[in-house]
Amino acid sequence: MADDAPFWKTKSLADMTDGEWESLCDGCGRCCLVKLEDEDDGAIHYTDIGCRLLDGEACRCRDYANRTARVDDCVRLTAQNLADLTWLPPTCAYRLVAAGHDLYWWHPLVSHDPESVHAAGVSVRARVSADEDALPEEQLGDHIVSWPGKWPKGAKAAMAPARPPVRPKKRIGVP
Ligand code: SF4
Ligand code: SF4
Repeated sequence: MADDAPFWKTKSLADMTDGEWESLCDGCGRCCLVKLEDEDDGAIHYTDIGCRLLDGEACRCRDYANRTARVDDCVRLTAQNLADLTWLPPTCAYRLVAAGHDLYWWHPLVSHDPESVHAAGVSVRARVSADEDALPEEQLGDHIVSWPGKWPKGAKAAMAPARPPVRPKKRIGVP
């Protein structure tokens, strides 16, 4: 490995500094969508409903420092619990690095552009249909979607396409 190789290629998740760990988050916001657990088989289903602290445009938490105090079921991701969080999206940088993969062209650490995760269609921008507080709990099941568990077209290419994919104008969050 070259001396100038980036930290996510040379360090294990457990050995990263706090700053490196935080910078590894691509800012997609997918993990901050409300999820439902099937009582019968324990399967986790994503919805297109945002956590009450999720900023759907920035795709970031509005109170990251106090997130677990303010939202009971907010899970603080660590190197130790990562393997248990099987519902994390396939695009999640922590999942990728833990599995020995490199980051993709749209990750801000690679592109040096925080907008690239949105341009690639990886983030939840323009796809969050409501805030969880704006919706009766019994309606959450009507908002189950499959896209947070999938790769957007073109995002898995190793290199950036000549032109970034155009984000669809219509919401595509249908199961
Ligand atoms: S899914 Fe992973 S990369 Fe995306 S916001 Fe959550 S922790 Fe960050
Ligand atoms: S409280 Fe947790 S789940 Fe909710 S937006 Fe913040 S980090 Fe995401």
